[in-house]
Amino acid sequence: MSLNPTAAEPLFTGVPVPDATLRSPPALLTGLRRGISRTCPACGQGKLFNGYLAVCPVCPVCGNDNEQYPSDDFGPYVTIFLVLHLMVPILVVADRTWDMSVWFEGAFAIPIFLLATLALLPFAKGGVIGFAWAFGVTRNQATDM
Ligand SMILES: [Zn+2]
Repeated sequence: MSLNPTAAEPLFTGVPVPDATLRSPPALLTGLRRGISRTCPACGQGKLFNGYLAVCPVCPVCGNDNEQYPSDDFGPYVTIFLVLHLMVPILVVADRTWDMSVWFEGAFAIPIFLLATLALLPFAKGGVIGFAWAFGVTRNQATDM
């Protein structure tokens, strides 16, 4: 055993070392499935987010750089698209079925829109990151355009 810490022998720190061999080749359905389940798109085992929406910069399992995938605005766009397409038909049917005042509808609709948006946003952002991983879209490519 060498006493030189710069030697090739790794020091045991108790922290698991990321294993790049766990990464799978990019594929659209795999990326979307893993992203929507909020796991690393490359390995499907590491957490994609620290908390609600902050992306883990490096996957603790496979070491993939998950922060390189641009997901700034497209996740909210997807969320808005889904929430509106899910909620508007429900509101139209409720409006035609029951005779409610606009204030009464708004008192129910606005909190439901807000909760649905907040609930879907992390899954949509994960799906966008999985999509970007599948097609190899990175922040450097997005800014070069
Ligand atoms: Zn990973």
